[in-house]
Amino acid sequence: MKQLIKFSLNHIPRPVLQRIAGWAVPVAGLFYKYRRRGGVECPVCGAKYRKFLPYGYVQPRPNALCPKCLSLERHRLLWLYLTRETDLLTAFPRTLHIAPEVCIMRHLKPHFKSHPGQYVTADLESPLADLHFDVQQIPLADGSVDVVICNHIMEHVADDRRAMRELHRVLKPGGWGIVLSPVDRDYEQTYEDDSITDPDERTRIFGQYDHRRIYGADYADRLRQAGFQVADIDYAATFTEAERRLYALPADHMYVVYKV
Ligand SMILES: [Zn+2]
Repeated sequence: MKQLIKFSLNHIPRPVLQRIAGWAVPVAGLFYKYRRRGGVECPVCGAKYRKFLPYGYVQPRPNALCPKCLSLERHRLLWLYLTRETDLLTAFPRTLHIAPEVCIMRHLKPHFKSHPGQYVTADLESPLADLHFDVQQIPLADGSVDVVICNHIMEHVADDRRAMRELHRVLKPGGWGIVLSPVDRDYEQTYEDDSITDPDERTRIFGQYDHRRIYGADYADRLRQAGFQVADIDYAATFTEAERRLYALPADHMYVVYKV
């Protein structure tokens, strides 16, 4: 299974993958039927399995992808944070969700239906999104949103500092957001090199063919330099070991940004 997923991710074009994932992954999930002891549960969709499917471009991670809603470890951590630690679902703040994680958008969209216009999705090109723009130049007025969710974008963007300033600009004073990126804490400083453009070289150096940098322990500082106050939270550590195993949570930190 691991090899099959690795092969598919590397050799099948992404649009085709997106089209077949809808049925192929749940079918694969049938082989992962729930076992009472040592099983896993997806907090996003509620499905239970023996374990999650492996997933990853270079080296597939075991126990990562929910066969039902396609959530990954970081999506499950994010969903738990949003639902347990914020008032997103109860206060219906005006929310801008950039490059929306499909498994999470599927919940938020119907949930916000009673509050039209309060939940807006955006992407560079995805037809699923309401707005289409480059995050380095957001076509929205200053202080026009209460909440911004923008994950796993900054490592792809040429001028990430400008993109972070744009997120800060469109947020209302008093607003908050979640801005996550892959961070390798073994690096003290973010490593980036604009001269590396070859996809194979980027995979070798940055871990994925379209990544431009590896953020280090200074990631929160970069967000602060854009004007935010930042809470750097080891959120998985607030769960018991049994819960971390049940939901297959990553050790990733949550970066919660605030505009004062
Ligand atoms: Zn799920």
